[in-house]
Amino acid sequence: MDKIEKKISFEKYTYEELNENDKACIQQSLQARSKAYAPYSTFSVGASLQMSNGEYILGNNQENRAYPSGLCAERVALFHFGANYPDGIIKTLTITANNKVGNYKEMIKPCGSCLQVIAEYELKQEQKIRIILYSDTNQVLIAEGVENFLPMIFLF
Ligand SMILES: [Zn+2]
Repeated sequence: MDKIEKKISFEKYTYEELNENDKACIQQSLQARSKAYAPYSTFSVGASLQMSNGEYILGNNQENRAYPSGLCAERVALFHFGANYPDGIIKTLTITANNKVGNYKEMIKPCGSCLQVIAEYELKQEQKIRIILYSDTNQVLIAEGVENFLPMIFLF
């Protein structure tokens, strides 16, 4: 029997400790979050993608009364990127969430389906994506690459 161990790594910051670029990524994701369509969960998620040319693509959760028809903020942004910038490079994905009353204190993590989609774009562009999670309590987690969330990526 062989034992396989994988290490995951995150850096934890406060918002004030970040550089201006990371702060801008967070501000973009907050802007995206403010436009979420989440009438059923009342839980709004915003995602910003910063591309290598410095441009942003924003996404937010889009719910539907037929629940499975909705989509997460991350995949709204990632699929817009994939559809419109087939040769683009994603540098940073930044995610933030809060509920209607604004008392959600966690750093929202991408769901399993979104992680797999992030992994697909990393493989396609042959570059890791920096992932920033921000909570309204000013706490920030940063990971260099999706394997920190999904160590056993689906490959074939
Ligand atoms: Zn998701």
